[in-house]
Amino acid sequence: MKVKKFGGTSVGSAERIKNVGKLISGCKKDIIVLSAMSGTTNSLLEISSAIKDSDQARAIELIDLLREKYAVTINDLYKTADYKAKATEAIEEIFDELKELSKKPYSQQLEKEIVAKGEMMSTNLMNLHLHEEGINSVLLPALDFIKIDKHGEPIEEFIKEEATKSIASYPEADLYITQGFICRNEDGEIDNLQRGGSDYTASLIGAVLGADEIEIWTDIDGMHNNDPRFVEETRPVHNLHFEEAAELAYFGAKILHPTCILPAREHNVPVRLLNTMDPSAEGTLIENNLEKNAIKAVAAKDNITAIKIKSGRMLLAYGFLKKVFEIFEKYETSIDMITTSEVGVSLTIDNEKNLPKIEEELGKLGSVTIDRDMVIICVVGDLEWTNKGFEAAALEALRNVPVRMISYGGSNYNISFLVRKEDKIKALRLLSYHLF
Ligand code: ADP
Ligand code: ASP
Ligand code: MG
Repeated sequence: MKVKKFGGTSVGSAERIKNVGKLISGCKKDIIVLSAMSGTTNSLLEISSAIKDSDQARAIELIDLLREKYAVTINDLYKTADYKAKATEAIEEIFDELKELSKKPYSQQLEKEIVAKGEMMSTNLMNLHLHEEGINSVLLPALDFIKIDKHGEPIEEFIKEEATKSIASYPEADLYITQGFICRNEDGEIDNLQRGGSDYTASLIGAVLGADEIEIWTDIDGMHNNDPRFVEETRPVHNLHFEEAAELAYFGAKILHPTCILPAREHNVPVRLLNTMDPSAEGTLIENNLEKNAIKAVAAKDNITAIKIKSGRMLLAYGFLKKVFEIFEKYETSIDMITTSEVGVSLTIDNEKNLPKIEEELGKLGSVTIDRDMVIICVVGDLEWTNKGFEAAALEALRNVPVRMISYGGSNYNISFLVRKEDKIKALRLLSYHLF
């Protein structure tokens, strides 16, 4: 059994849905995870933000605009009047629910319920399309089995048990379709796995059910060696170790959700990245296999804040770093990079929500300096410390870029540089030029 996830662009129009239908039509017993049609999640967030601004007229206007888009898709997707009617009924029901939601006062919970509609719509459209093509697919509601705890972490035991039950209720089915991204939280409310979370859904399901492979189908032929949005002439990397892929995803390679490799790695299920626009392209295979002595790829993570704490009172006296870390723990803010010296420690965070409180408490330990709008540039490959020259090559490439922090040796797979936002593209291009 394989789990196959198709992203927003892959199901972004009637043509694309038909194309995916053809790709999966022969896949017996596979589990198909779908994102919302491209643009839909953003539209739903816009609707939610109109509600937040108490602009109900705007919310209704946006809902109607989206409704029209779906009407066009339905008309183009189905051959028969019967299926056009069935799909219209299913989608209209969702739009009616959206209209009801738009009458409520804004809350974060309301936003989650609104944004969940995108995946509900795409999966309904695909399921009916498959039925019209004579395929016995079944729609399994992800809200029945994808669950997170109070820290937003997926509850794997629950997912395994409930997904197994859901699948077992339909032994005759050819294919199982489910929603990516959406889930329930520990109180049973609708929640989600953060933007791009459909990859995470697929990885979780594939991992806990012990799939043969998790396929992430998108609009590009695999993980490239640099960010194709900013660097020309990037190339697909055909093989990556789980750790390399996890570092790239976490440090900004948008093709994968930041933490989606973790379950696959833990359960040793290979992940393959494939291109719906070019299904025969080799793509990228991610597994427990390391290509020795090679730098594989570069990625960048935006919106990083660097915090420096300088202490006259002996930074390296034991217990000092503990006190620093406890402050971040107390305010549930994770640290990405860290560097230390005798007089100070620098670290980075990607979430400023609790920064004022963190800054205040750190101030009791020493003087605090904050640098905003920074970017982590992450170079990934076989960077085991006894391999000579790789870290020097990366540094040499950045010779003319001011570097605020360097982190090496935390893993065998990465060296990270913190640079200013305005130097990001230059740094990415220089690294590509010098390393590949
Ligand atoms: P989907 O909607 O299918 O989930 P995403 O837009 O989330 O697709 O991810 C695919 C996009 O990721 C590509 O179109 C590409 O622009 C971007 N991307 C960023 N970094 C990389 C990289 N290193 N390799 C491949 N694609 C990347
Ligand atoms: N639809 C969600 C998003 O746009 C999840 C996903 O596409 O993976 O972020
Ligand atoms: Mg994505």
